[in-house]
This record gives sequence, structure tokens and C-alpha cells, in this order.
Amino acid sequence: MTLNEVRSLIRAVPDFPKPGIVFRDITPLLAHPEGFSATIDALAERAAGARADAILAIESRGFIFGAALAHRLGLPLQLVRKKGKLPRESLSIRYELEYGYDHLEVHTDAIEPGGRYLIVDDLIATGGTASATARLVRQQQGIVARCLFVVELSALNGREALGDLPAISLLSF
Ligand code: AMP
Repeated sequence: MTLNEVRSLIRAVPDFPKPGIVFRDITPLLAHPEGFSATIDALAERAAGARADAILAIESRGFIFGAALAHRLGLPLQLVRKKGKLPRESLSIRYELEYGYDHLEVHTDAIEPGGRYLIVDDLIATGGTASATARLVRQQQGIVARCLFVVELSALNGREALGDLPAISLLSF
């Protein structure tokens, strides 16, 4: 299955969760075994050469792709979660939302100094979530080996927020 066929499995839902937002719904892709498998194959190809020690998957749709990719690549999976979900000592980072702010957290022992991390999420919009995750990595003297996304909303300039971090997306809308 080609990436163009994968693209057709991502549905645009206008005005969700609020007026003016076009939500990119990946659930038809997840429900399509060949499409999902082709997506993980493509992500695995884009991870080549990154020399990653582990995957950092972002809650919650990033978990789906990050987990499958970790399984495919034989890499450890670490979870970046919303505030208050992780049971052990964690690092926390505050990041801006369209209105207000939120926090992302990761277990302190999930990121090792000098370790190379592959950040995975389903989608990059403004880049705020992924760049906050990158800051968590750096806070622990880790290295962001690469950022991988299934979808990029190119009009929102998320790459700018990522600065010079290497980032690859499979599909651009
Ligand atoms: P951002 O921090 O602006 O790059 O937003 C990325 C996060 O918000 C990802 O975890 C996405 O799952 C989610 N997200 C933002 N915009 C959309 C959208 N239009 N459709 C689906 N998910 C979105």
C-alpha cells in the first residue's frame, strides 16, 4: 500500500473539537490492517540511521504509532504523558496551548544523559507538544535523534517550533 493510499484513510472532520478546526481522524487508518502496517513500515524506514536508543511516544495517539514502531525496531518504549498520570518520580514541562497551558511528564529514569531518543506522535500542528518533549529530553542531557510524525499540518509551521531538530512526517496536509 502506498502513502497516497494511507492518506485516503485519514478523514478530515471539520469543526472538531471546535469551530474552524479541521480534525485529522486517524481511526480509519487504525482500522485498516494493511494501511496501519504500511504506516509503521514507512516510519521504520524514516528511523533508519537515527541510531536511537529508545522511542519517546507522546500521549495519546503517539502511543499507538510509537508502540508499534518500538516493536518493529526492537527499541525500548518510553511514555510522555499528560500531567499526573505517571506513578513514579517524573520530570514535568509546561507548554503553551492555544488558550492557556498544560504540562507533559516523563519518568525521570526514562531519559538518560547522552541517550538518543526518537520522538513519535501522530501529528504535528504548531509543534508545541513535540518541542516541549524535546525540552524534556534536553533537561536530562539526552539527545533528540529524530522526530517522527504520521501527519504534518504544514500551514501551522510546526517545524519552526522544532528549530533545527531533525523531523520527518509521512504525510502533509
Ligand atoms: P501541536 O502541539 O500544535 O503540534 O499539536 C499536536 C498534538 O495535538 C498532537 O498530539 C495531535 O494529536 C493533536 N492535534 C493538533 N491538531 C490536530 C488536528 N487538526 N487533528 C488531529 N489532531 C490534532
